[in-house]
Amino acid sequence: MRHPYLTIDLDKIERNARTVVELCAQHGIEVTGVTKGVCGQPDVARAMLRGGVSSIGESHLENIRRLKSAGIETSHMLLRLPPLSEVAEVVEVADVSLNSELAVLAGLSAAAQRRGQVHEVILMVDLGDLREGIWPDEIVPFVRKVLRLPGVRIKGLGTNLACFGAVAPSADNMNQLVALACEVEQTFGFALEWISGANSSGLELIASGRMPKRVNQARIGEAILLGRETIHRKPWPGTFQDAFVLHAEVLELRKKPSLPVGERCEDAFGKHPTFEDRGEVMRALLNVGREDVDVEGIAPIDARIMILGGSSDYLVVDVGGAAGGVRVGDELTFSVTYGALLAAMTSEYVEKRCLPE
Ligand SMILES: *Cc1c(COP(=O)(O)O)cnc(C)c1O
Repeated sequence: MRHPYLTIDLDKIERNARTVVELCAQHGIEVTGVTKGVCGQPDVARAMLRGGVSSIGESHLENIRRLKSAGIETSHMLLRLPPLSEVAEVVEVADVSLNSELAVLAGLSAAAQRRGQVHEVILMVDLGDLREGIWPDEIVPFVRKVLRLPGVRIKGLGTNLACFGAVAPSADNMNQLVALACEVEQTFGFALEWISGANSSGLELIASGRMPKRVNQARIGEAILLGRETIHRKPWPGTFQDAFVLHAEVLELRKKPSLPVGERCEDAFGKHPTFEDRGEVMRALLNVGREDVDVEGIAPIDARIMILGGSSDYLVVDVGGAAGGVRVGDELTFSVTYGALLAAMTSEYVEKRCLPE
């Protein structure tokens, strides 16, 4: 096996999906499984679908294309706002998209009409996280304009929290979303099918029973992939945190001082790193680096090993505690955060290996 590589345990992902789907189902919420953290890897999407998610959410059209050409037939949701320049591709590739701009909705409508279809949209409301979304007091006039576009159908309202402004979902902001939905329904006399309130940050609110009943849709990525809610990044009960493991090989193993020797300058990334003097340490150089992962986002599975730092193509670790047991050519393993997972999935130097094979 070529190193470094990332193992992807599909059974664990399936079981994580089932745990999340069953919890949400108990509270009347259906789950879209989000695969953007794994670049739309088709086997991962299939594992999520086996675990019971009812559709797949992606932020990239090319990932949706990959899923479809791998034969994954489900409803595909485009999570990132569609670019005005690509409305024709969006209506062709995605079944539903999240939106907040009238000009884009007009473009989607025209593109859908040209294809003789109606494109479904969820209108995103910004409840304070300050990423995408229409401000709450604009919703009613906004919906009035969207209803004049024959090529799009408003499937529901949605919101995204805990991403940019780190605003946590709460009974308050979720009730605000529901109140807006009711106002839209009463003003225009039609029913909104989906109130899409949550991502992985909403699991605690859902499990505590404080999620308002009308919220009936969630878009969940990290909790399924890595088994964590995202308010405190606590392991979620009944899920695995180790469906993804990064493996790298020891290239050099030597005892060296812990302080660099000689006059100091910038490192390879223009930084001035500081080091603690711990005497001589047994150091291993591994064949994974910043070109492959977010070095700050990985942690050795063997707790006796400590990461000292990384350059573009090396990771430097202190194997002190495990020194006797590590040899050149050995493989060391690391857990990954969402950011490190995304980087490893994106790097063409990291081989991906699905389990079971
Ligand atoms: C990424 C994303 C999600 C999934 O978020 P997780 O925290 O991974 O569950 C949901 N909705 C939108 C709009 C997203 O961009």
